Amino acid sequence: MPVAEALAAAERTPSQQDLDTVSRQLGRPARDIVEIGARCVCGNPLVATTAPRLSSGIPFPTTYYLTHPVITAAVSRLEAAGEMVTMNERLETDEELQAAQLRAHEHYLAVRDAIGERSGVGPVPEIDGVSAGAMPARVKCLHVMVGHSLAAGPGVNALGDEALAKITQWWTADVCACAGAWDTEAPVPEQDRSRHVRTQAGDPEAKRRERAAKRAAREAAEAEAGSATDTQTEA
Ligand SMILES: [Zn+2]
Repeated sequence: MPVAEALAAAERTPSQQDLDTVSRQLGRPARDIVEIGARCVCGNPLVATTAPRLSSGIPFPTTYYLTHPVITAAVSRLEAAGEMVTMNERLETDEELQAAQLRAHEHYLAVRDAIGERSGVGPVPEIDGVSAGAMPARVKCLHVMVGHSLAAGPGVNALGDEALAKITQWWTADVCACAGAWDTEAPVPEQDRSRHVRTQAGDPEAKRRERAAKRAAREAAEAEAGSATDTQTEA
């Protein structure tokens, strides 16, 4: 069964201009971005998509990252106003909402698998069953929910959809809010080559060996430390 995604494959493919725009939006180099998850009506990126394993070999559960400064700031305002406290209280008792979040969680896992497959990283067993933003039981990062909603389209992540409905005074899907939102004249923050470019250029066999070695080292380290990546973690 196909997984709901807002953009068609051709629109998801990042151009160099998209990657430059994301770097400018974030004020840091865009790394390990394999796709654009959602776009403004003008075409600019709203959401950057990271593969479930970084080029460094590290498993990366958080697939969608909000890059548009206007949306990011608006969602931060909701968080600061205590929106997640209310959502988490509702999640404790509202069975319909619990079911909706479980569906969102499952969609997240399915779409992340699909992205892993088409970006060439394959399965990432280390993060099996772990989505992002503390789904499905809780909400720890509203940016994760909104990024998911924008990339999936309406009706997939209920809390992300709710958050979008609460920021319409600052941003709505049908109006371009890009003008002045970031410095389009500034030099692009020093550009790492994205995984997209690198995996095409590199020798896959060498890459695989390197990854296996790193995985072993990481698993050893994780056995000691444990890990949690459930906020809008920077790649
Ligand atoms: Zn725009």
